Amino acid sequence: MPYPDLLEKLREEVGAKNVFTGEKKTAYYRSGFRSGLGGALAVIFPETLLQQWHILRHCVDSGCVIIMQGAKTGLTEGSCPSRGGYGRPVIIINSRRLTKLVLLDGGKQVLALPGASLHQLENLLRPLGRAPHSVIGSTSIGATIVGGIANNAGGALCKRGSSYTELSLFAQVDAAGKLQLVDHLGIRNLGKTPEQIFERLERGQIDSADLEAQDTPASDREYAPTVFAISKLTCPTATTPTRNAFSSSAVARAKSSPSL
Ligand SMILES: Cc1cc2nc3c(=O)[nH]c(=O)nc-3n(C[C@H](O)[C@H](O)[C@H](O)COP(=O)(O)OP(=O)(O)OC[C@H]3O[C@@H](n4cnc5c(N)ncnc54)[C@H](O)[C@@H]3O)c2cc1C
Repeated sequence: MPYPDLLEKLREEVGAKNVFTGEKKTAYYRSGFRSGLGGALAVIFPETLLQQWHILRHCVDSGCVIIMQGAKTGLTEGSCPSRGGYGRPVIIINSRRLTKLVLLDGGKQVLALPGASLHQLENLLRPLGRAPHSVIGSTSIGATIVGGIANNAGGALCKRGSSYTELSLFAQVDAAGKLQLVDHLGIRNLGKTPEQIFERLERGQIDSADLEAQDTPASDREYAPTVFAISKLTCPTATTPTRNAFSSSAVARAKSSPSL
């Protein structure tokens, strides 16, 4: 095996029970919902953001292909490996054990860890008389909020458009090949190091006074006017490749930035 100690390091980070290997045990996670099936060295299930960060670092340092996976309901094979392979080992990181949701400012906004589902969000918002931005067919089978953002899911909701946000925390590999944490969350005083930031987010005690990006879009505000301007005969999601692509939004098109 080209990366003999990688699996050992990953097991040390998340515990052996959260590292799936072998054809049979990984088969479900290596396959797409409707199509797609490829190989992977392992499927990892981090239970904290810090674990996820460490796993990413090991994978980047080992030169692995990283595939982020939510509920795996995507229909474009984005959350499973390709049949042809990549010439280097594939690690699938499944986020479904990171399900925390935190209401911000009394429910005006929400902070979602990557495995939190639309169904969870619906339940959390119902008592407040609010509903998630995305109400999609796969809400009932566990689709995650972040998987939707990555895919720009939704789209058929004329008043709301595709899932989109400019507020997120994500990992990026820089030109020198090093993993960097990019903070576009718009929350003050989270801390300086990844460790401090993750600890604060997972604790979930975010003061309304620390929310500094109230005007930054967390949805596609231009969708409805674009759709209703039918005389222009444009398709709001398809005509402009960069439309709705910003940090974590539409990242599934590029498959490059794991959202934490
Ligand atoms: C029955 C059914 C009904 C559906 N209805 C709709 C619908 O009405 N509208 C619609 O738009 N779609 C629909 N879909 C498609 C799909 O459910 C959505 O695209 C959904 O938002 C995907 O969420 P997921 O958690 O399953 O993501 P996954 O399939 O796990 O991942 C989707 C993409 O996001 C990436 N990703 C996931 N997590 C992260 C992360 N943390 N960081 C970076 N990238 C990440 C993955 O790599 C992948 O490319 C439907 C699918 C099914 C099976």
